[in-house]
Amino acid sequence: MVEQGLHHVFRRKGATMRTDTILSNASANFARAADMLAGEFDRDLLEKIAQPKERIEITIGPQFDDGKIHTLRAFVVRHSDALGPAKGGIRMTGDVTLDDVAGLAMEMTWKCALIGLPFGGGKSGIVADPHELDEHNKETLIRSFTRAAMRHIGPMIYVPAPDMGTNERDMGHVKDTIAYSAGQAGTQGCYVTGKPVILGGIPGRREATGRGVVECVAEACKAVHLSLTGASAVVQGFGNVGGVAAACLAERGANVIAVSDLHGAVHNADGLDIRALLKQYDQTGRVEGFPGGEGVDGKDMLELPCDVLVLAAAANQITDQNAPRIQTKILAEGANSPTTPRADDILADKGVFLIPDILCNAGGVFVSYLEYTQETQQEQWTEDEVRARLHKRMCEKFAEVAAVAQARKLPMRQAAMYQAVRTVAQALIARGKLP
Ligand code: NAD
Repeated sequence: MVEQGLHHVFRRKGATMRTDTILSNASANFARAADMLAGEFDRDLLEKIAQPKERIEITIGPQFDDGKIHTLRAFVVRHSDALGPAKGGIRMTGDVTLDDVAGLAMEMTWKCALIGLPFGGGKSGIVADPHELDEHNKETLIRSFTRAAMRHIGPMIYVPAPDMGTNERDMGHVKDTIAYSAGQAGTQGCYVTGKPVILGGIPGRREATGRGVVECVAEACKAVHLSLTGASAVVQGFGNVGGVAAACLAERGANVIAVSDLHGAVHNADGLDIRALLKQYDQTGRVEGFPGGEGVDGKDMLELPCDVLVLAAAANQITDQNAPRIQTKILAEGANSPTTPRADDILADKGVFLIPDILCNAGGVFVSYLEYTQETQQEQWTEDEVRARLHKRMCEKFAEVAAVAQARKLPMRQAAMYQAVRTVAQALIARGKLP
């Protein structure tokens, strides 16, 4: 029996599924994988795998500097713990919903399984706009959330990390809140990743997702016989993922011709000076007004002819509306769920080589895993070691997915989902009857 309101995992003939939310995208992608795996696994097992283990809604009431109590909502979803404790970031935006968090938690299950980690999938959400909070009030909010969610967080339960709207400073406050509540200087084991290095974080975690994206792009270039040196690249989003991806692309000789953020986009057909642009973004929080390029519309930018398009901003950026006009050879999903399933089909028909989010942006959770083991074993890793491990894992997993895609004649997303869901199903079977 499937709970009312949750998506049935198998597509019914003629049934239409809404494809405009993170959860419906994740469910549609899962349904395709489940159809492929139905001959190998019991359908009831696949049905179970699709559903979240826990969907928790929390009310918090932090008292901000204005002296008032602000009643806010927060969510924690543990989608799966078949492979280990749930792993996934804390998203803080004004419009995050429980369904978004459930969809993102589901994606984390596949991502961790695909990249070969002993983690399940989880995610949290805090409904608040971080841009409206000063540092002090944001700390109050993070501490309030952590206190309320503490029973759902733990090295063997759910291990959060930064996501949109949260950063390493916030993760330091999460750790401190948990340690303080136990009257201890620190925590025994790793309760949260993406922390400042001085509090048990790992060097290179902040850059890991963007670096991993570019590792995948480099492998994709080989697959389509394109040289990354001199390739033209467009990057949507200039934050943690997009900014690092643009810098790494430039470092590896690509010509980054356009980048965008929430406020606007800049274009220069001869290539942008990414170092100078990062400096401006650090100072102003905007790419607009950059003297080394011309302003363009952010949506139009996605349709520029280019070799590589990196999506590193938000969900649902490529839909069936604009997919026919996309002119890239390689599309790298640095963001979560930036392409809808219907757009996927259009891009596949056009021959675009798409690197799916659960592979492309998995570098972040991979390095979180290194942070987890570092803290658990009280080791200290160098940034060079972290980069080398990241490079090796991303290349290995890219090759595995590409091999499945070739053998089964599937687009990369379906090959990645096939691998990931299969791994989770195998883990559940290996656990036996109880879970
Ligand atoms: P961030 O907040 O650091 O940066 C987001 C950037 O995207 C900002 O430059 C913002 O202005 C821009 N942006 C937002 N909406 C936009 C829009 N509609 N058009 C153009 N630009 C827009 O966030 P981040 O950490 O870089 O995350 C970006 C995406 O990558 C999210 O989907 C996130 O879930 C995903 N992701 C992040 C990590 C990580 O380690 N940070 C890991 C995996 C996936």
